[in-house]
Amino acid sequence: MEDKFLIGKPFTLACIEIMNFKNINGMVGIQAGDLILKKASGFFKGCITDEDRLYRMTGVTFMIVFDENSDVETSLKKIMELEKKQVDFVYSKDPENSVQEEQTVCYKLAIGISKFPDDAKDFTTIIRHVDIALAHAQNQTENKVITYNEELEKEQQKQAEADRLITESLEKDWFYLMYQPQFTLEEKKLRGFETLIRCKKPDGSIVSPAFFIPAAEKSNLILKIDDYVLKRAINESKKMLEKTQELCTISVNISAKNISSEGFAEKVIDLIEKANFQPECLEIEITEYSFVESLEVTVENINKLRAHGVQIALDDFGTGYTSIAQVMNLPVNLLKIDKSLIDEIESSQKKRNLVNSIISMGHIMNCEVISEGVENEQQLDILRTYDCDFIQGYVWSKPIEYNAALELSHDKAK
Ligand code: C2E
Ligand code: MG
Ligand code: MG
Repeated sequence: MEDKFLIGKPFTLACIEIMNFKNINGMVGIQAGDLILKKASGFFKGCITDEDRLYRMTGVTFMIVFDENSDVETSLKKIMELEKKQVDFVYSKDPENSVQEEQTVCYKLAIGISKFPDDAKDFTTIIRHVDIALAHAQNQTENKVITYNEELEKEQQKQAEADRLITESLEKDWFYLMYQPQFTLEEKKLRGFETLIRCKKPDGSIVSPAFFIPAAEKSNLILKIDDYVLKRAINESKKMLEKTQELCTISVNISAKNISSEGFAEKVIDLIEKANFQPECLEIEITEYSFVESLEVTVENINKLRAHGVQIALDDFGTGYTSIAQVMNLPVNLLKIDKSLIDEIESSQKKRNLVNSIISMGHIMNCEVISEGVENEQQLDILRTYDCDFIQGYVWSKPIEYNAALELSHDKAK
């Protein structure tokens, strides 16, 4: 490979990874796994020209050095076709035993690309760039052939920075919760609080979740954050609930990854029971896009939590693609209308109609409805005419510190 650098001829480097090879190996065993790799390698070879070079790098990654005159796009398109094929092969699981078995395998591929000399002028840099492009390709669900560009590198650095911050914050206890009150619209009575995570660094600066939550959702760190928030919210709010006679709802944001993962409901129920917490006082906020990940597991988790008394709110409602039929089949008890719809409620008749319809639809489904991000009296007046049940927003309160929330909840008890 390095010869080409010495000659200095332009070329394109592509790195292909068989992403599901671990699963395949588990299914057929290591010996047969080698056969499967050979089949893939043979297929890749058939997609390139004699001028191009194919190398097997680590266990499941291959590199192709494309000649400057090769049609890279067409070759890679052909290579990706392997994903659509079901490859049958015959193997014996036990090398000592000649019993042959048949298996059908589907491959899942990701490809990163970098160009010499356009993207990099030396060997180390081009390998680093191809790695960055491959890492992005692995995170895609659709287009999994990604060419390196500077933006990808910046994004990767931002992700690494956020990951470091999250890990350090968990270790050193830099995270804390703010509590944003929710009120009944008619009487301005406290319904409860939404917990909102913040990070306070030792220099006193506060980092918003808008920086680290999207990054945490890409890495699996969101699972740790959600666990942390749930535990802390339950422990802190126990003190609030001790003195309140009426039920006060503590609403916790949970990521799509968590709500659609097996065992989530059991984990929450276990936490509630260990803390001796009243399940009716806990509300789990899920976003509409939670349904895209794994609808079946999501619904199962929601049903188990509801059966246990935990409440479920659908956050950011009106921004995603959840169908009415999907919502109808879910035991959700609260719809949260997204701030983006409330923002233009005074100026846009369309938005007004939409909000009005969502509130009516919610009520037909036996759900209560809360509007979030309400900032002024005019918006309150409009929402009153539509019979919205609750509101949350700067007009009545910004998110407040734990001690202030404790006081507010105790005032409610008086
Ligand atoms: P979200 O769950 O939709 O939370 C509402 C966001 O709108 C909060 O921002 C809140 O402070 C802000 N907000 C509320 N009322 C108003 C208003 O009247 N005007 C304006 N301009 N903003 C208002 P925040 O705290 O920055 O949270 C942003 C997002 O980060 C949340 O959106 C949620 O998706 C995520 N998030 C926050 N805390 C957590 C958490 O503990 N776990 C998870 N998984 N996600 C969280
Ligand atoms: Mg929320
Ligand atoms: Mg929201």
